[in-house]
Amino acid sequence: MWQLLKRKYLLPLAGQIPGNGSHIFEQTRIFDIDGDSPYILKSVKRNKVTADKVIIASHYPIYNKAGLYTARIYPDRSYVVAIKAEEPYPGGMYINAETPSRSLRFQPFEGGKLILVGGENHKTGQGGDTTQHYQKLVDFARDTFTVEEILYRWSTHDCMTVDSLPYAGYFTADKQNLFVATGYQKWGMTNSMAASMVMA
Ligand SMILES: Cc1cc2nc3c(=O)[nH]c(=O)nc-3n(C[C@H](O)[C@H](O)[C@H](O)COP(=O)(O)OP(=O)(O)OC[C@H]3O[C@@H](n4cnc5c(N)ncnc54)[C@H](O)[C@@H]3O)c2cc1C
Repeated sequence: MWQLLKRKYLLPLAGQIPGNGSHIFEQTRIFDIDGDSPYILKSVKRNKVTADKVIIASHYPIYNKAGLYTARIYPDRSYVVAIKAEEPYPGGMYINAETPSRSLRFQPFEGGKLILVGGENHKTGQGGDTTQHYQKLVDFARDTFTVEEILYRWSTHDCMTVDSLPYAGYFTADKQNLFVATGYQKWGMTNSMAASMVMA
């Protein structure tokens, strides 16, 4: 459901972009930015993209020649397990207000629903044994549902900022046409909308 929702939301946004001098270039990983409005973005396939304005929205900023973002952002890791349960999932997405945080959502799967149980978080590299975090989610899943099978587990990194506010705006004060949008504190589907409104 989450991935489907994300696609449902992102595809029309992507559909708005081509035209009026705007393009989408897929499979174009940028490793460096040169020049100054126009900027020259260099791709690993040795292509170049030229643009008067650049917004760096690559999750962790790919450009580190200025701005000291490495010192102002740290990655935080959190975990998900996908389970099959005996009882039907009632639908919806849920997150608790307490700590440790636990969230529930679902993904359509083979005519039924997989339940995604999320939670556990720590600064990347400082969480100790990874398996204990998955185990805590499995314990929670077993307390909440009659678990038939644990089919998948994975983890993600999110960009966190030192003052807990996303960075959305000028990349540095002296560059008028270079922007950054990052540090969404795990809520990038919603905070990215606010960031684009701020920048627009
Ligand atoms: C399981 C799960 C559940 C979540 N639930 C929610 C939720 O309920 N609500 C919510 O608000 N958020 C949620 N999030 C978080 C949200 O998905 C992220 O915060 C958001 O996707 C971050 O957006 P972003 O644009 O910064 O980075 P990304 O979505 O990672 O996009 C970055 C893009 O930049 C591209 N890129 C990276 N490097 C380069 C490069 N060198 N050159 C060119 N392109 C590059 C990548 O390919 C990618 O397309 C969830 C995340 C997960 C994993």
